[in-house]
Amino acid sequence: TKMLFNDSIMDRKKVIDIEDRGYQFGDGIYEVVGIYNGRAFLLDEHLERLQRSAKELKINIPYSVNRLKEQLLELVKINGLKEGVIYLQISRGVAERWHQFPVEEVAPVLVAYTKEEETLKEEEDNGATAILTQDIRWLRCDIKTLNLLPNVLGKQKATEKQAVEAIFHRGDIITEASASNVFIVKGSVLYTHPANHFILNGITRRKVIDLCNELDLDVREETYSVSDLLSADEVFITATKLDIVPIIRIDEVLIGEGIPGKYTTRILQAYRDIIRETSNE
Ligand code: PMP
Repeated sequence: TKMLFNDSIMDRKKVIDIEDRGYQFGDGIYEVVGIYNGRAFLLDEHLERLQRSAKELKINIPYSVNRLKEQLLELVKINGLKEGVIYLQISRGVAERWHQFPVEEVAPVLVAYTKEEETLKEEEDNGATAILTQDIRWLRCDIKTLNLLPNVLGKQKATEKQAVEAIFHRGDIITEASASNVFIVKGSVLYTHPANHFILNGITRRKVIDLCNELDLDVREETYSVSDLLSADEVFITATKLDIVPIIRIDEVLIGEGIPGKYTTRILQAYRDIIRETSNE
């Protein structure tokens, strides 16, 4: 398959320098964009978030975002990708290894490639399990940076327990999960952690909030505790391409009746409808 390297679409090959700051420091940003039926879903939203991450870390996106968008769509087309994701990352660039930003103008390094990936249909329909673990990340989780070690360790712990996700708690507050946002349902109200520096403001999360508003569901961006989570009627997680997965057990605790709940099912249905509409346009 082909990859995007800076502004060129070329054969996928090894191109990264050993002094790339993304490689050495995790000094870079990324996005993962879902492709459904050959169509990029919410691409503008992802590119907007990329620009925000770039600004927060003072990384210059090497060319215009319009051009980048064209190149990403071209890459999907050339690779013939139908179901999967685009992975895009921009590192601060290649420079002699010192922690501070390089002094001279160093060009950021942009790479993107496509990856086949199916939606987790079985988990979406039947629910999945999660574990709880401490949120040991820094205080700028709102920036989508390459530094993902706490997320990696969390996901590994979940995998060892045959769970799909590790849900993070910072003290008594549930923040999000290792690679997804978390929603709970209590009675007829949905709660999800507010979009501040403790979480990544997921593109799927935002779409689900919009959807709840359209469906006239009461959704509140408020913090909730570990015991709120474990005693919730329903829990679900959201992320690109994973979409919406009901969580039916967390560690040894069954959530609700241990099956996907009615709010989750309704939201998932509506979300699938949006994807279907946008990918058939
Ligand atoms: N939180 C974290 C920590 C993530 O890594 C992700 C997935 N990139 C999400 C939330 C979900 O974000 P999105 O819906 O934009 O994929």
